[in-house]
Amino acid sequence: MINQEMFDLGAEPNKIRELFAFGLERKAAIGAENVFDYSIGNPSVPAPDCVTQAFRDLLQMDPVVLHEYTPSPGDPQVRAAIADYLTRTFGLAATPGNVYVTSGASSAIAITLSAVCEPGDEVIVISPYFPEYRTWTHTAGCTLVEVPAQVPNFQPDVAAIEAAITERTSAIIVNSPNNPVGAVYSRESLTALCDMLARKEAELGRRIFLVADEPYREITYGAEVPYLPSLYVDTIVCYSFSKSLSLPGERIGYIYVSDRMLDAGAIFTAVCGAGRALGYICAPVMLQRAVAKCLGTPSDVEAYAANREILTRGLTELGYEFVEPEGAFYLWVRALESDAVAFSERAKDFELLLVPSDSFGATGWVRLSYCIARDTIERSMPAFKALKESYR
Ligand code: PLP
Repeated sequence: MINQEMFDLGAEPNKIRELFAFGLERKAAIGAENVFDYSIGNPSVPAPDCVTQAFRDLLQMDPVVLHEYTPSPGDPQVRAAIADYLTRTFGLAATPGNVYVTSGASSAIAITLSAVCEPGDEVIVISPYFPEYRTWTHTAGCTLVEVPAQVPNFQPDVAAIEAAITERTSAIIVNSPNNPVGAVYSRESLTALCDMLARKEAELGRRIFLVADEPYREITYGAEVPYLPSLYVDTIVCYSFSKSLSLPGERIGYIYVSDRMLDAGAIFTAVCGAGRALGYICAPVMLQRAVAKCLGTPSDVEAYAANREILTRGLTELGYEFVEPEGAFYLWVRALESDAVAFSERAKDFELLLVPSDSFGATGWVRLSYCIARDTIERSMPAFKALKESYR
């Protein structure tokens, strides 16, 4: 009667959203100020003024024209503005024909995987990883192959990735700055990864696409974020404005397929086809036009940097172990027992909402989203202390 796979997906609890919903209930019951909700990655800094001004200006347009469908890959002027921005910023010539505007990175990745993979192919992810990669890979009819990152620096383990590549590998998803760990992949690791991928492509005689998932590109605390299309020709960039412009609910991003890659035109056509097959008529039009006016607007990284400082200092004093975050706004903290789900449950007793690492394909850790009010972080410290003491 119904598609069992889709039913299972709908019924499967998403731990992040489950905790977020639990937090809303607790806030209603005991007051928002008494719940320390580190569950979800909703940016806590407001969208920059540029976005508000762009919306004001857009509302002056003829409403019939303003709200029209755009061509599926996006408004030609918006694609041109993005291409121009990419060329200016990264020094590789991009054209409007290389840019497909999407409803955020989620649809960008789902479209890209469907465009470049055949059913039965394998997609490599570096664990821990963003949980929806599993969903999009399966929807493309492919198998997810998890390769753990190196511990303790959480950089890609190039030798292990090489060992995981088979004659069915068609893509690897690379997310740096990383959710959930906060690592930023170094130029050295990425160069080693890209050199190995190029060698494997030649050896196997097949394309291995690097899908660069980049919602956090601009959110770093000083680390360099190398531009992957410069390091590896078969890179497809999946960008999002959800975090850089604090617009997560608005759904806007893009795919960039560089002309430098072999058969770039055919790959872009497959992207258009996958977008069509998945039901994306065009990305939200007001958002397309608004972000085109705000390309390059700096994110308020200072706010996240201050949160990071308060949180890491506080947890260090309490003796928690964590990965020093270099980017994004997540902290990867070692659970105080081997079962991270049990640890997350225990944390709830102290009104701390921490996502267990099992959701990200790893055991024994929890993820804290610190894109929350600074004051909440400060007031949560006694709760972290009590949680730690409960394990004595
Ligand atoms: N990829 C990563 C690593 C993310 O953290 C997120 C959102 O949190 C996404 C993709 C999806 O982002 P978007 O809101 O652009 O769909």
